[in-house]
Amino acid sequence: MGPNRLGVGMQHYVLKDGGRVSWINMDQSILRQYPPIKDTRAYTDRYTQGDFERYNEITQNVESFEKWKLGINPRTNRKIKIGGWTHQQIEYECFYIHHARSSFLFTTLDGVDQDSYMDETTEMKQTIDAYNAKVHEAIRAINALKRWEDYIVFDGNKYGIPPVLANIHREKDCMGVVAEMDYESCRCHSCTDWGGCSNPTGTQYYACEKCGYKYSTARSFSKNYKGK
Ligand SMILES: [Zn+2]
Ligand SMILES: [Zn+2]
Repeated sequence: MGPNRLGVGMQHYVLKDGGRVSWINMDQSILRQYPPIKDTRAYTDRYTQGDFERYNEITQNVESFEKWKLGINPRTNRKIKIGGWTHQQIEYECFYIHHARSSFLFTTLDGVDQDSYMDETTEMKQTIDAYNAKVHEAIRAINALKRWEDYIVFDGNKYGIPPVLANIHREKDCMGVVAEMDYESCRCHSCTDWGGCSNPTGTQYYACEKCGYKYSTARSFSKNYKGK
C-alpha cells in the first residue's frame, strides 16, 4: 500500500475514511506546536550606528551634494551630464549609505533622531532576545515531557509533546519508531512542465512502525534527495 497523498508543510492525522485533520486542532486545549520565536530581523534590519556615522560624514560636506545636483563633479568641479554614468556613479559612491542588505541615499535619514533611534534598537533587541530565550527554555521543557497528556503553560497556552519527537511517535504514548517511507519530488507547475523550479519542495512520507500513523513533511531544495 503506497502512502496517502497528504498536504505539504504540516503534519496531519489521516482518518480511516481518507480525510485528514491538522494535528494542532485535534486537541483544543493542548497545542502540539512549539511556541513561535520572534524574528530578530525586527532589530537587525534597522539602521546601524555605522549608517548614522556615514550620514553625519556626508552631511558635513553638503555643498558637494548641491554641486552634484547641478551637474558638477564635486571631486573635479567639472561639468558632468545629469543622469549620465559619471553622475550616477558619484551619487552611489559619495551620497549613498551602504547598509548590510541595501543601499540608500543619505537623505533617507534626514530628520531621524539618532540617539533615540539607537536607544529604541537596543530596547527592541533586549526585549526580543529575552523573549526568545524564554521560548527556547519552553521548548526544552516541552521536549522533556513524559506523557502525551502532559503539558507546560507558556504565554497563557498549553503546550504538549509534538506527535513525533526524535523519530518516536509520541501521540497517545504510542512510542513506536517512525520510519521514512516514500519521497515525492516537487510537483509544482514549473517542475512538471519544464523543470525550471526555483524552490523545489518535495514531500517526505513517514509511518509509525508500531501503529501505522502516517504523516508527511515538506523538504525544500531536495529535488535530488534520494536520487529522485
Ligand atoms: Zn517545483
Ligand atoms: Zn505509533
